[in-house]
Amino acid sequence: ASTSVVIQASATPQLPSGTYRPKQSLGQNYLKDPNTVAKIVRAFHQDASRYQPTVEEIVELGPGAGALTDKLVEVYGASRLHCIEIDERSIQLLEQKHPTLKITHADVLQVDYSDMAIERPLVVIGNLPYYITSQILFALADAAHVGAVSSATVTMQWEVGQRMVAKPKTKDYGILSVVFQLYADVVCHFKIPPTVFYPKPAVDSALIGLHFYSPSLLRERLQGVAPVQLRRVVTTAFQQRRKTLRNSLKKLCQQEGVELSEEWAVQRPEELTPEDFVALTKSIFGTQS
Ligand code: SAM
Repeated sequence: ASTSVVIQASATPQLPSGTYRPKQSLGQNYLKDPNTVAKIVRAFHQDASRYQPTVEEIVELGPGAGALTDKLVEVYGASRLHCIEIDERSIQLLEQKHPTLKITHADVLQVDYSDMAIERPLVVIGNLPYYITSQILFALADAAHVGAVSSATVTMQWEVGQRMVAKPKTKDYGILSVVFQLYADVVCHFKIPPTVFYPKPAVDSALIGLHFYSPSLLRERLQGVAPVQLRRVVTTAFQQRRKTLRNSLKKLCQQEGVELSEEWAVQRPEELTPEDFVALTKSIFGTQS
């Protein structure tokens, strides 16, 4: 149950303008609107407190100049927060503002979430660098599998967010829908327009909440199928989304020396539910020993 925490918009976030130039190559689009910051932290609180009565062990990915960080420190205190940032310039800024805050200078794709989750699974928040959105999401799913992460509240391109929540037989349904809906209850909190960022990105954004299933429930949902094999089947099938599985999975089945049963062969990937993909993978690869 959600604890009552009042999260209101406060000062306009500090922007790096005048301090340093945002780097496009690092996906640096900073939040500049206090109302959007408050809305994001409110949604994060909803996601995180779904599993934890008090929100602790928070990890922020890419804090930048601290638009979200400042709010998180105000609401939860610096000692509950651990930030991961690659840009040394942001780290200096954040260290000046929050001397006791734990900041790791690292590439988010290299961090080990299990090492960071000390007493309980982590709750993650981030206005993500969009050039590595999918890699970050897959790493979070892997961390959830071993019980290191319980929720993530993250921004992404609106189109990518729509794929995360898409249902079978719709145009957006694909790899991201299948994989993440197996791992988590996925919600789209709201749309974020380019105008609340500096510099303005070319696209609309979405705030997506992932409520990961517990490791035991995940094991049940994956029925002994190896995640890497599941992803291989889903990716291969969706590479030719209009074709039947007989055609799109032909090569993969040949490589594995198996024949697809007629029941699967006549179907198209967009008709299969995430649970069907688990059963399909099991029929090709069996289960992990
Ligand atoms: N949280 C800030 C905000 O909302 O204003 C900044 C968000 S900005 C979209 C993304 C942040 O991720 C930037 O601070 C950028 O330097 C950082 N970043 C980019 N690539 C990264 C990586 N591989 N590892 C860690 N941080 C990264």
